[in-house]
Amino acid sequence: MPRWLEAPLAVALMDYTLYLWHVLMHRSSWLWRLHLPHHVDLDLDASTALRFHFSELVVSIAWRAGQVVLIGVSPRAYSAWQKLLMFSILFHHSNVELRLSSSVGSAGLSLRRVCTASIIRLFATKPTRTGRAD
Ligand SMILES: [Zn+2]
Repeated sequence: MPRWLEAPLAVALMDYTLYLWHVLMHRSSWLWRLHLPHHVDLDLDASTALRFHFSELVVSIAWRAGQVVLIGVSPRAYSAWQKLLMFSILFHHSNVELRLSSSVGSAGLSLRRVCTASIIRLFATKPTRTGRAD
């Protein structure tokens, strides 16, 4: 593998495996109980991105260690991923309305505005009586 590809690939793999962790948090009833405080806000804002129960943070240490070991991410790539992650989670949990007025593609799909909190709600799941996400 070319050296120039190592860091971008490591960042992408760290991000993908973090996504898998998030899916697991929603699918496992035990993990969902730890993750639920992150999803209780009725209105999302940037602070939601940083609101996690202490027990979720403790449990996630093992997952993060596994990510680092299995991917073999360098300290430099890990630092870059953390910075990108912080920026992206603050952005996509914020309630920012972007006004875009450009056509996308030849199909004439028009993208006029994007509200980041609305995007999150599209993918958000609600807990059921069993305590597990839908
Ligand atoms: Zn979640």
